[in-house]
Amino acid sequence: HVRTVNENYFGAYSSFGIHREMISDKVRMDAYSQAILRNTSLFSDAIVMDVGCGTGILSLFAAQAGASKVIAVEASEKMAGVATQTAKDNGLWQSGRPDGCNDSCKGVVEVVHSMVEDVDKSIQIQPHSVDVLISEWMGYCLLYESMLNSVLYARDRWLKPGGAILPDTATMFAAGFGKGATSLPFWEDVYRFDMSCVGKEIVEDAARYPIVDVVNDVDLVTDAVVLQAFDLVAMKPDEVDFTSNIEIAPKLAGLADKDGKPTWCYGVVLWFETGFTSRFCKEFPAVLSTSPATPKTHWAQTILTFREPIAMSSKRPCADRLAPVGTDACPAEKIRLRISIARASEHRSIDISLEAVGI
Ligand code: SAH
Repeated sequence: HVRTVNENYFGAYSSFGIHREMISDKVRMDAYSQAILRNTSLFSDAIVMDVGCGTGILSLFAAQAGASKVIAVEASEKMAGVATQTAKDNGLWQSGRPDGCNDSCKGVVEVVHSMVEDVDKSIQIQPHSVDVLISEWMGYCLLYESMLNSVLYARDRWLKPGGAILPDTATMFAAGFGKGATSLPFWEDVYRFDMSCVGKEIVEDAARYPIVDVVNDVDLVTDAVVLQAFDLVAMKPDEVDFTSNIEIAPKLAGLADKDGKPTWCYGVVLWFETGFTSRFCKEFPAVLSTSPATPKTHWAQTILTFREPIAMSSKRPCADRLAPVGTDACPAEKIRLRISIARASEHRSIDISLEAVGI
């Protein structure tokens, strides 16, 4: 029995475990709940669409913030059922039939079981009549699962001109990581035995596949740079795929270890932030960050390992020979990288390419 990719994808979202993980992610929940509940002037009497409502949690927030109607769209049949039941149980359900509501029903949340791309057949509102579009569409490495295109589709079909989209920005970052973020230190000393052959094999494998795991800020050996910035109001659907050239500079403290040997950069770690900026969230802007420097989220970070580590030192003779490497008089060589991310055809994964330029 061959299942289609979409069947598998929405099947996965039928598992309550995933929804529990998302709802338990405090960083995620804080950002969304603040953006919705603390910007009541945006939500008051608004028509809201929640793209991929899952359990319906964001729709319930929107109803609580004063929306006059929330269209909660969900492709997974099981989760659409859950969202309907929770809206009902909390007195916020709209069935289209008044007798379907209990006494306290405010008739605000309308759950629609459909792909947002096919929702036309099921809802009564006119195109371009939604005031606020909300969605939690972000995947690992921001773009894994490519749900962003469904949000952009909903924007172009349902959002009013000048309507709000939450979050309205998404920014990807990159920074180099050192040995501490790899398995090498663990396997180098196993009850005083050298098992570094295992660590080396793991690092070799890691150079073929990106890894989703938590990276500690202390293991970053370069500064962090913006890899790509998306403006969800203005971007075109085909801009989801991109190639970006970046230069990452060694952190001063990371240039050499205590014996003066150069520090090695083993690869780059990627993470993202989404902004609920003052463009729409005038009362209370919020940011959802998945940075190694801030409390961890279920997205963790995405780790791309180089096939060979890159030494971070000054390769050029310095103008001032006595100046320590990394100072203005003797700048450290930056690592130049070209990173491309593109949706893989026919399924919801992404292709990532990482190239070191000019080495
Ligand atoms: N909004 C919820 C769930 C987020 S997970 C929360 O914040 O907790 C994303 C959800 O979007 C999943 O339940 C998935 O089934 C749904 N989804 C993904 N693509 C969709 C599409 N094109 N149309 C409708 N629902 C979609």
